[in-house]
Amino acid sequence: MAVSGTKARAPGQAATGPGSLLERKLLHLGLRDPVDFVVHLPLRYEDETHITPIMSVYPGAPAQVEAEVIRSEVQFRPRRQLVAVVEDDTGSLLLRWLNFYPNQQKQVAVGKRVRVRGEVRAGFGGHEMVHPKITVAGTALPQALTPVYPTTDGLSQASLRKAIDQALVRADLSDTLPPEIRDRYKLMPFDQAIRVLHHPSPDISYSDLIERGHPAWTRIKFDELLAQQISLAAARAARRRQRARALEGDHGRLPDALRASLPFTLTAAQERVIAEISSDLSCSFPMHRLLQGDVGSGKTIVAAFAAAQAISSQSQVAIMAPTEILAEQHFQKLVAWLEPLGITVAWLTGSLSSKARKAAIEAIESGQAQLVVGTQALIQDKVNFSNLGLVILDEQHRFGVGQRLDLSRKGEESEGSLAMIPHQLSMSATPIPRTLAMTFFADLDVSVIDELPPGRSPVLTKLVSDARRDEVLSHVVAEVRRGSQAYWVCPLVEESEALQLQTAVDTHARLALALSGMRVGLVHGRLPAAEKQQVMQDFRAGAIDLLVATTVIEVGVDVPNASLMIIEHAERFGLAQLHQLRGRVGRGSQQSVCVLMYQSPLSAVARQRLRAMYETADGFEIARRDLEQRGPGEFLGVRQSGQELLRFASIDTDAMIAEQAQEAARELRDRFPGHARCHLERWMRGKQDFLRS
Ligand code: ADP
Ligand code: MG
Repeated sequence: MAVSGTKARAPGQAATGPGSLLERKLLHLGLRDPVDFVVHLPLRYEDETHITPIMSVYPGAPAQVEAEVIRSEVQFRPRRQLVAVVEDDTGSLLLRWLNFYPNQQKQVAVGKRVRVRGEVRAGFGGHEMVHPKITVAGTALPQALTPVYPTTDGLSQASLRKAIDQALVRADLSDTLPPEIRDRYKLMPFDQAIRVLHHPSPDISYSDLIERGHPAWTRIKFDELLAQQISLAAARAARRRQRARALEGDHGRLPDALRASLPFTLTAAQERVIAEISSDLSCSFPMHRLLQGDVGSGKTIVAAFAAAQAISSQSQVAIMAPTEILAEQHFQKLVAWLEPLGITVAWLTGSLSSKARKAAIEAIESGQAQLVVGTQALIQDKVNFSNLGLVILDEQHRFGVGQRLDLSRKGEESEGSLAMIPHQLSMSATPIPRTLAMTFFADLDVSVIDELPPGRSPVLTKLVSDARRDEVLSHVVAEVRRGSQAYWVCPLVEESEALQLQTAVDTHARLALALSGMRVGLVHGRLPAAEKQQVMQDFRAGAIDLLVATTVIEVGVDVPNASLMIIEHAERFGLAQLHQLRGRVGRGSQQSVCVLMYQSPLSAVARQRLRAMYETADGFEIARRDLEQRGPGEFLGVRQSGQELLRFASIDTDAMIAEQAQEAARELRDRFPGHARCHLERWMRGKQDFLRS
């Protein structure tokens, strides 16, 4: 049993030659080798297996009739169009083409017998079809439903069907599952499932086919999830075979000094996750741990403890944050915590002057910089670490898969024949729902901070219509008079970044005017870095009362004295985003308020979102609802990578299949490694690197 090779020629090729337009279109769909075509499965089907008497067709449904053309003419009113009437023994039907070729006109010449297929509509003079498909009458009817495949511009269903049918003949459809496993989970043989899905017989329940409840679909989903589980398990095993420097630290002396210097006591949850990370770091294979904790739970200090342990083991540490503002804030905190303990902290972002950048890069290369804080600038080619032992990614879901890989590669070094891989800690406030964790992060250990620092009271969330803007303004004034600070988040303008900036600038001008006597600041992504820093610093120092901001402040920003947040056009933001934004307040001990301003009328989805924000402050619950509304992409941070994770199975509805697949993956790897390899080859070609991160 073998899954036929990646070297096989593309099915379309014989007919059209290499590099043909058809081949390029097929490639665009990811269709190259027979196995690709095999699992390019239909979106839906058309039933062309029988002929309906014209009398029995009804509007709103597709139908196929055979009839004789009794009239055919080009009409000019109300516009140029081809109109034909066909008739069978039971009735007549009008056909209409608003655009047509001479060829089509010939197809429906009076007297011809034609097979007509299309959607029936109620017309003025009876039933009609617009732009029906015409073929010659009397040819054999297909025995199976006609598949309709996902396609791309300029690739017709007919060509795609032909290419797929050719590939089905050529491809190896042998089963990658041993009969024993197939029987246990009552799975349909692979070849049978594939044939059913490409050419289902008309007596199969259409809804089973479309809603993917048919056993043929179950088999495909199982296979897909199985492949994912096998490769995750393989990645895990491979990681345990990899080597990393064991960073045991200095018997906790540096961490203890850090603990003693803090103005607060760590929560029990923080102490627990610090211990988990500490024990991972002491291992000689790389840590791959995700630290989850809701906004404000205190992840940054946990990162500092991990860094302290690594540094006291003579390793360098890199912390990468997704925005400059966040990187800068981390830098300041880490300097305050760690420099008094004798640690050298460097910082590197894209906006440093070339002199400062050169100095930073040198300090990184020489090893003088023990801790480096920065943005994506850390993964530029020019940056070389001297001995990078630990990589920390804050707000990891913000990074693309490639970026995560790149930073950890910076630390790869060879010792003898073995590569040394840095330990990796990712941090995120976005909780991963259980099914998602199981299916995608099986190779990730997870630590959770499930408690907030003491003394925080939950943020009060208010939904306020745009029409009550004046009330909101007076609320801002009152808060500022009491000595607190506020954020004003400008509306998201999806279509254009320029427009978004303009909105921010306008909002700032209007608010500054309306709130004279108040110190109103502005920060947005396009501000020069130095200015951005200055504004954030002023806000932190209390020299700005109201900070007008775009979503640049969405993640990580930590100014405990800010206790009021206004979000304009809250209906335009996603749930996770709103939760992150709201997390910027409620960081101090005073009662905080988040005002979600919205413009009526609200769409149903927006209403649901705002209600969710009002009803709960629990990040897990919000993530669950977000998943419901938006699907898994956001959680996985795959937006930038464009990788499809699951094509057929759904993590919402196929949790049970996923569990079976996880179990079967273990068995396959232990008892049937040959099968496991073939299975991966069929399902996971070219995706290995992706799974590594
Ligand atoms: P997040 O988990 O959202 O990244 P931060 O690390 O920014 O949270 O921490 C939020 C705030 O709480 C910071 O001002 C931090 O200094 C403070 N903090 C962290 N841990 C504690 C603690 N145990 N007690 C009191 N304050 C803490
Ligand atoms: Mg944070």
